[in-house]
Amino acid sequence: MIIINSYFLFINYLYPLFFFNIFSPFMKEYKRYLITAALPYANGPIHLGHLAGVYLPADIFARYLRLKSEDIVFICGSDEHGVPITIKARTEGVTPKDVVDKYHVLNKKAFEDLGISFDIYSRTTSPVHYETASEFFLTLYNKGEFIEKTTEQYFDPEAKQFLADRYIVGTCPRCNNENAYGDQCENCGSSLSPTELLNPRSTLSGAVPVLKETKHWYLPLDKYEPFLRKWILEENKHWKTNVYGQCKSWLDSGLQPRAVSRDLDWGIPVPLPGADGKVLYVWFDAPIGYISATKELTPEWEKYWKSKETCMIHFIGKDNIVFHCIIFPVMLEAEGTYILPENVPANEFLNLEGDKLSTSKNWAVWLHEYLEEFPGKQDVLRYVLCANAPEAKDNDFTWKDYQARNNNELVAILGNFVNRALILTRKYFNGNIPEKSTVETYDKEILDAFSTKKTMVEKSLENFRFREALKEAMDLARLGNKYLADTEPWKLIKSDPERVKTILNISLQLTATLGILLEPFLPDTAIKLRKMLNLPTLLWKELGRTDLVSPGQLLHDPGLLFEKIEDEVIDKQLHKLINNHNMKQITDPHLEPAKDLISFEDFGKMDIRVSTIIKAERVTKTKKLLKLTVDTGIDERIIISGIAEFFQPEELEGKKVCVLLNLEPREIKGIQSQGMILLSENVDGSLYLVEPHVEAQNGTVVR
Ligand SMILES: [Zn+2]
Repeated sequence: MIIINSYFLFINYLYPLFFFNIFSPFMKEYKRYLITAALPYANGPIHLGHLAGVYLPADIFARYLRLKSEDIVFICGSDEHGVPITIKARTEGVTPKDVVDKYHVLNKKAFEDLGISFDIYSRTTSPVHYETASEFFLTLYNKGEFIEKTTEQYFDPEAKQFLADRYIVGTCPRCNNENAYGDQCENCGSSLSPTELLNPRSTLSGAVPVLKETKHWYLPLDKYEPFLRKWILEENKHWKTNVYGQCKSWLDSGLQPRAVSRDLDWGIPVPLPGADGKVLYVWFDAPIGYISATKELTPEWEKYWKSKETCMIHFIGKDNIVFHCIIFPVMLEAEGTYILPENVPANEFLNLEGDKLSTSKNWAVWLHEYLEEFPGKQDVLRYVLCANAPEAKDNDFTWKDYQARNNNELVAILGNFVNRALILTRKYFNGNIPEKSTVETYDKEILDAFSTKKTMVEKSLENFRFREALKEAMDLARLGNKYLADTEPWKLIKSDPERVKTILNISLQLTATLGILLEPFLPDTAIKLRKMLNLPTLLWKELGRTDLVSPGQLLHDPGLLFEKIEDEVIDKQLHKLINNHNMKQITDPHLEPAKDLISFEDFGKMDIRVSTIIKAERVTKTKKLLKLTVDTGIDERIIISGIAEFFQPEELEGKKVCVLLNLEPREIKGIQSQGMILLSENVDGSLYLVEPHVEAQNGTVVR
């Protein structure tokens, strides 16, 4: 039922798009292609939403072009600057560099393991990028493209620094959400400026920020409005409706100059004298990362960026449309020597089990975890995400749908067809590909489908309709299944073995065709298919041929392409999702992150007991130390504690406390200290005794 429903939905909403896209981007002839995928922030792992929105469609497209022997570079890398990274570093008590090093490596590997075939996965902290971004800024600066403006911005008087974007929180003026950021309210989606927030406070110190003057450089987007109107609204009517529509609404509401610098200590320094403490705004530096990465990849980078014969396509999610359709094109146009994108096929969002994917609420399926928990099933994920891609509207990933698509489509249709074709050949002809003889009308119908499918898949791919393309390709496997079910070679083998030879030959030709047709979507499966058929890598242009496999050739062992996924596996994932989500997330950046797990035995080694302080006195010639005499129930002992700044000796006498008894004794200022009083420390450094209930008896164990 699920499948049938989504199938109809799919047809319904694609129909108008199909109409709209009659101007295929491929009407123009290009010599080469530059494909970029949005640079993911290196402040967290990749989740399914990122994949479905950006990386998977980009990879399918890149693989398709490579199969067509096009000259193509596929560019991506980590975006390693920006406030989310410095905030993450602060939360985890590490440096921004530690954060980006960790996630760059993690995400690079996860992409590779999913078969995302970037030609380069670079990073915006690379020296080439620093150089390229600085040069780019200077070129615009020297051309007089920037406006210098001194404005008042929020400054944290305690942390003594300006507060960029996410370092300020406050109440959203639109929806009253009390935790809106200085640049955006995540509750209502409004884009905000820090001064619009009610009751603003600094996330660094909690202080109320004050306005202070600071100088920044602005890109006058308003000046480029006529250029953008002509370029987008007149010349790029073939863009996806969601992208075109968003651009139009921005242009219609009027563009403002936009700052390209920030007061921050993490980023590419503004390359001007007197600009200490200022860095390039991450949204100025990040898209230049595409250029730097291409430079790192090839000395011939300029032909991809500066030749009108190059087709540049940016794959992004819808939250990035403004940057790739408005800001970056203005930067490129202002610089003057670069080409503009031919298309920006942004996707909508993928939801998860009916809710918005959220990193902060831990409502996500993380790619690196999926790959670990589902070894060898990268193509299953690629299939499900593509079949359900949020191309024209937000869409939902559910584990039940994942299971259904695997079991009812990959296993029951594709896997089943291929398996039957190969097993029957092995059974009847010892695995030798049989010769086809008389071709009947039905056979011809099947053979003709090879080239019609090629055309249909091409057309869908070239119009960025990836789910439609995948469905067309899978329909060929459906056709194969039907062909075998209708012709029933297992019944004919006794009476008409010649006919069976023809049927199986055609079935194996169809399998080989699937090995090419499915390669952009399911690269690992395509390799397996070709291996079973004993075929080399084939190019896209071979599609339509009806003699891809030759009679007499021996097949390799038919392995299983896909396996059924049981309910337990899916239930486990659903539980995991809900458990992770319920775990309280650390929201206060001052709190230490959770420590590593220890065993119960480790904990049991600590002898913590209820005790009473019977005497407290200052240690002479020290400011911080108190000498405490403690009744631990089993003995009386001396403990030296560095708490004199927080407690008067007399207020401690008679207090019940928790004492770690078996801590190695230490000599402090000539006195043996035997144990430790347990205290908690607030963010401001103030200390509190961990006090057991007054009725707890001395000597009883705390555990
Ligand atoms: Zn709001």
